Amino acid sequence: MISTAWEYASAIGQDSHRFSSDPERQKEPGRVLILAGVVLADECPLAGNSDADVVLHALTNAVSGMTGRNVLGSRADELCLRQGIRDSAVYLREALTDLAAAGWSLTHISISLEGQRPRLMARTDSLRQNLAILTSLELQDIGLTATSGEGLTAFGRGEGIQVFCMVSVRRPIGQTCV
Ligand SMILES: [Zn+2]
Repeated sequence: MISTAWEYASAIGQDSHRFSSDPERQKEPGRVLILAGVVLADECPLAGNSDADVVLHALTNAVSGMTGRNVLGSRADELCLRQGIRDSAVYLREALTDLAAAGWSLTHISISLEGQRPRLMARTDSLRQNLAILTSLELQDIGLTATSGEGLTAFGRGEGIQVFCMVSVRRPIGQTCV
């Protein structure tokens, strides 16, 4: 019987955004809070040139941390500022394309979010479900925890949201007979 031997690796990503304090920008059409690609229309939006999806940005950075090919920064600026693409799912796709080109496939995503607001307890499953769609992972392979921050940091005081993300990947390194 032929068995595949796998190489395993993991990488971390982080991102943070402050809540939009400019009342004019808050009224911009399409300027809503988006986390993991899910629109939370009743919540204060985050500030940013793109859709400011801090969860997808942390995930994108984690994938870039694996490939060594950074997407957020000059490549995302090209997409956002020059081509007008503000959908962070597009930036994530760029990073996932790099990952696949290097032979890696995602096996697990762990996301840890800190923010005094909004309360996400009841909504983590909808965020995980959308992440599963965006990454083609099973729901059980995506973890997402949210903590309030207890007022200890700018995020804990409700000034913004910070997200850390760990991705685990594997790629085949050969086949052996067993
Ligand atoms: Zn960001």
